[in-house]
Amino acid sequence: MDNSIKEQNIADETNEKSELENGGSRIIEYYDDNITSDSDLSSVLRLLYELKKIDKELAEIEEEKGDLPERIEELDEKIEELEERISEDKSNLDIMRAEEKKIIKDNKTIEDKANKLDEQKYNVRNNREYDEISKMIDECFEILDRNESRLKEIETLTDDLENDIETNEDKLNEYEEKRDESQEQLDELNEQFKEEESGLNSERKKLISKLDYETKTLYERINSSYKGEALGIVRKGNCSGCYNSVPPQRAIEIRMSQKMYTCQSCGRILIDESLIKDL
Ligand SMILES: [Zn+2]
Repeated sequence: MDNSIKEQNIADETNEKSELENGGSRIIEYYDDNITSDSDLSSVLRLLYELKKIDKELAEIEEEKGDLPERIEELDEKIEELEERISEDKSNLDIMRAEEKKIIKDNKTIEDKANKLDEQKYNVRNNREYDEISKMIDECFEILDRNESRLKEIETLTDDLENDIETNEDKLNEYEEKRDESQEQLDELNEQFKEEESGLNSERKKLISKLDYETKTLYERINSSYKGEALGIVRKGNCSGCYNSVPPQRAIEIRMSQKMYTCQSCGRILIDESLIKDL
């Protein structure tokens, strides 16, 4: 870069800065009413329309990508929740099975004891001893009865837990599959859009460089709130952005590309549909 160009660039930058600093009032003027341009307005508008189309595509890419990470996050939350429930159910199942095992072992001991007591009944020396042993045997059978009903309860509880675990594991697999699928999609989109985005951005840069500073600033400001929708097309007297009507005299001026207007309702730059028929 030779020095004279360098100096020119520095001068341009300085201008741009001072425009930024002092330009507040000028930009607000745009919203008041109309913007006039020295260059051929219809070609500026057509260029803005081309720019809008690129920004629309960029906005769609952004939207597409924006949705997938959210879905993945949602699925991750569901997966985590299910994993917690399954692990809780499994630890309850372990507790139930340990209790079941202990009861079965206890029952064996109690049965042995009852059998021994039953044998002792034949060796008693008096009625009192006989009654005592009979009472002890009855007590054994009472414990065995209680244990049997607890075993039945445990069986029902473990059946329920096993069913829940199975259902939740199926769900978990389903969510994990969906999550992996979405992740794969996102990876693919990222890869795919990498090229597309860089193409669109370089095209965008080319178009933007053809705009004067004021038009560029206006467009970027509107585009930052209406992503890819900074232009309203005037069709049958209405703005395509907000569907409000454009005053007839103004609509004529827009059709003739005499002045650049922003929509009084939504603030979009207005362009007549006849101007973009071939685009
Ligand atoms: Zn509008």
